[in-house]
Amino acid sequence: MFNRADFISDSEWNRFQEFSKDLETPNVVVNLHQIKRNFIKLRDSFPYAQIYYAVKSNPGEPVVSMLAELGSCFDIASRYELDSVLALGVHPDRISYGNTIKKACDIKYFYDKGVRMFATDSKSDLRNIAEFAPKSRVYVRVLIENETTADWPLSRKFGCHPDMAYDLIVLARDLGLTPYGISFHVGSQQRDIGAWNDAIAKTKYLFSSLEEDEDIRLTMINMGGGFPAHYIQAANELETYASEITRYLHDDFGDDIPHIILEPGRSLVGDSGILTSEVVLVSRKNNTALQRWVFQDAGKFNGLVETMDESIKYPVISSKDEPGAKEGEVILAGPTCDSADIMYEDFKYKLPLSLKAGDKLYWLSTGAYTSTYASVAFNGFPPIKTYYMK
Ligand SMILES: *Cc1c(COP(=O)(O)O)cnc(C)c1O
Repeated sequence: MFNRADFISDSEWNRFQEFSKDLETPNVVVNLHQIKRNFIKLRDSFPYAQIYYAVKSNPGEPVVSMLAELGSCFDIASRYELDSVLALGVHPDRISYGNTIKKACDIKYFYDKGVRMFATDSKSDLRNIAEFAPKSRVYVRVLIENETTADWPLSRKFGCHPDMAYDLIVLARDLGLTPYGISFHVGSQQRDIGAWNDAIAKTKYLFSSLEEDEDIRLTMINMGGGFPAHYIQAANELETYASEITRYLHDDFGDDIPHIILEPGRSLVGDSGILTSEVVLVSRKNNTALQRWVFQDAGKFNGLVETMDESIKYPVISSKDEPGAKEGEVILAGPTCDSADIMYEDFKYKLPLSLKAGDKLYWLSTGAYTSTYASVAFNGFPPIKTYYMK
C-alpha cells in the first residue's frame, strides 16, 4: 500500500534492518542521525529563531543530549522532565517551563533549580509565578481556535483569549515580573500554514496595544510547534513553512521582528522512528468476510496512542511486502483486552494477503509521541522499548 522508499532511503532502511534484526518486538528504533538532520534543517530554515525542543515528544536521553550539543534549548512540562534534562548537564537558562498547568510547589521547584522563564494563561497561575518565581520572565499563551487542519490539536485546553492575554501581561508587570512575550501553538501536525498568519496577527495586535496603552514593550514571540513529520497525508516541506511564516512576520512587524522562539517536537523526531511489531493473529469475523483483523503486539496502550480517533496515520509496511504481492483490507488492532485498542478501522489499510502470525509490521515515522506515551502495565503489557541508533 505504501512505498517504503517514499519515507526512508534504501541506505537508512538497510542500516535499520541490521540494527534491529535481533531485537524483541514490539520496539521503537530511533535514528539519531535523522534527528540531527532535522534539527539542522530547521535551524537553517529559521536562522533568526531560537529552538526550544519540546521534550515530551521524545524524552530519550540520547536525543536530549545530542540536541543540547547542537545548541538547542528545551521546553519542559514537568519537574520530572526538568530533573532528567538537568541531569544531562543542560544549564537552566536554556529551559522554559512551558506548561500552563502547574502546581505552586512545582513553580518553586523550577525557580530553585534556576529556571527563570515561564508560560502562563491564567491569573491564578500568574500570581503563583509572581510569588514563587519572582522577577522571572513570563510569556502569555493565546488561544488558537482554528485548529481543524491540525491532525493533533492542542488548543482549547491551553491559552486564553487575546483580551485576557493583554490583562495578564499588565498584571505580570504590576506583580514585579518581567513581561517577555506572547506564545501560541497552532496545533500539532498543522497542515495549513496560514494558521501561523492568524496567530502572528493576533500577536502583533497585542504588541502594539500594550506598547501604546501601557508602555509595555514585549520582545519575544514563541511560535510553538506544529511543523510536520511525514505521515501518509501530505504536508508541505519545512522550507515552505519557513518562507511563508517569515513573510508573515515581516508583513506584521516590518524589519523589527521580535526575538523568535520555536518549540518543535514532532518535526524534529517524528521521522526518526520505526516501530516494529509482530503479528499475533490474523482472523476474520465470519467465513465470507473480506476484511481481515490483524492483531499485533503493539497497540494504543504501548506506543500507538496517537492513532486515537485515527488522528495520525502512520505509513505501515510489512515483512511480506514485495512487488506484486496481492493485498487486502485490514483492521489493525492491538494486543490488549480493550475494544478501544483498535488503531485503524475507518481508514482502510491494506496488507498482503499472505500475512500471518509471526510476520513483522513496520510503522514508519513513529519517533514522536510513541516511546513514553504509554500505559505502565495495562493487561500486564509493559511500555514499548526504545533503542537509539547512532
Ligand atoms: C507539545 C508541545 C510542543 C510541540 O509541538 P509539535 O507539534 O510536536 O512540534 C510545543 N510547545 C508546547 C507548549 C507543547 O505543548
